[in-house]
Amino acid sequence: MPLSREASEALRAEVSGVKTEDPDALTRFASDASHLYQLPAAAVAPRDRDDVQRLVGWARRWKVPLVGRGGGSSLDGESVPPPGSVVVDFSGWNALVEIDDADRLVRVGPGVVNRDLHQTLASHGLFFPPNPGSWTTSTIGGNTATNASGPRSFRYGSTRTWVRGLEVVLGSGELLRVGHRTRKASTGPDLLGFFVGSEGTLGFFTEVCLALAPAPQRRIGLVLAVPDDLVFGTTLPRLLASPMPAFSAVEYLDRATAAALSRFASGRLPGDTALLLLELESSDTQEGSDLERAAQRLVDAGFREEPVVYPDADQLWTLRGQSGEAVEGEGVRVHEDVAVPWSRLDELIAGTRALSARHDVPVRLFGHLGDGNLHPGFVVDPLSERSRAVRRDLVMLTKRLGGTISAEHGVGALKASYLALEHGDVGVSVLEAFKRRCDPDGIMNPGKLYPGPALPAGTGSS
Ligand SMILES: Cc1cc2nc3c(=O)[nH]c(=O)nc-3n(C[C@H](O)[C@H](O)[C@H](O)COP(=O)(O)OP(=O)(O)OC[C@H]3O[C@@H](n4cnc5c(N)ncnc54)[C@H](O)[C@@H]3O)c2cc1C
Repeated sequence: MPLSREASEALRAEVSGVKTEDPDALTRFASDASHLYQLPAAAVAPRDRDDVQRLVGWARRWKVPLVGRGGGSSLDGESVPPPGSVVVDFSGWNALVEIDDADRLVRVGPGVVNRDLHQTLASHGLFFPPNPGSWTTSTIGGNTATNASGPRSFRYGSTRTWVRGLEVVLGSGELLRVGHRTRKASTGPDLLGFFVGSEGTLGFFTEVCLALAPAPQRRIGLVLAVPDDLVFGTTLPRLLASPMPAFSAVEYLDRATAAALSRFASGRLPGDTALLLLELESSDTQEGSDLERAAQRLVDAGFREEPVVYPDADQLWTLRGQSGEAVEGEGVRVHEDVAVPWSRLDELIAGTRALSARHDVPVRLFGHLGDGNLHPGFVVDPLSERSRAVRRDLVMLTKRLGGTISAEHGVGALKASYLALEHGDVGVSVLEAFKRRCDPDGIMNPGKLYPGPALPAGTGSS
């Protein structure tokens, strides 16, 4: 659905960033890491904040939906263009505006890639803790818009914990600067928090200010073979009984996932058993004693196997980030993301295996165990009625267990109809009222996050 001639001419006259309406060039924006696909009407790489404001003004006038895009690695269709929309490509906004060592803050453009930021901050002895599996491609703007997490979120929390400030061009065209450089503030409800996880439905982030943590001198990866029928409800509390040793990540791969990843990574991981992947924070002088203490803790928690030590945990996380791709090679097409309290993990695993058998859909299980967060990967056609039934049953199971329907991937298009299960009708109406204030014409990424139909084709499309 292309733009009308008048809308296209107005876009070219009013917005100065690079634009394209060439269908061939647009194909790279048509999908994300979900199975959804929709060619946009156009894509724009805005030049600066004023350009973004002019673009929003244009979109309001012509009633054309806009969708922001960073690395395009979303798994629930968050960055798939709504019909007739214009993609706003922030991937080139990768400037590091300021590193403030004294206050441990960094200000960045939204297009900075997570791992690039990590590498830059290393020489400052600082780091931004959330390290999603997609850290080699996903951007700080996308991480903020989806409240992304990673293995280290077990110790450090999700992106929300670390966002200190945002510059946002709202869907109304207004500019909002929200947040504080201070470590705390008691000035009413958390306005900043409304924007974290908003999936581009309220406004565009043109700058993000992040708090940083001091980087430990050593990050050691430990890989432990565990039985497939491990009881997590009792094991996890024993493993994590005290703050020392300082485990900063606790990940799980079931046997089938570990085997797939081992094959994918040419044997760089054990592949004939389920695995726990741990990260231990330490220092140059304490490494030996911390490793001993960690080994003792594993014995106390009931594990008999010796862990395999990876001296550089980052390598382990890059490897672990390939789990999704590895299981895709074995037919997984639907990547789910749910979390429950630790005490309900065993019921979640048993219930997921039961629904997999009931629907005759094989499943691979892996995820951020320390956060009670599992990523069941189902071998099923994502467009089929069966895949919708599997998602519905998994969502219902998770809610019955007191969990959340999305721990870190977001809601996107695929889970929008379940939003009221999470927040209740009253909660959703409060969110909708806030959205109407920020985005009065409903041009910001319609069809995502909020239930209800996508914005109908705008008058800007012919
Ligand atoms: C292999 C793989 C592993 C993954 N592992 C994890 C994981 O461990 N943890 C996790 O949390 N997620 C994970 N994900 C999901 C995904 O990578 C994250 O959701 C990530 O935060 C998306 O970032 P992105 O830059 O790719 O955003 P995009 O997909 O480009 O966009 C995501 C959302 O952000 C919005 N957006 C983008 N830029 C802006 C902006 N400037 N202003 C406002 N809104 C904007 C978009 O409109 C969209 O709604 C994984 C995905 C893959 C493919």
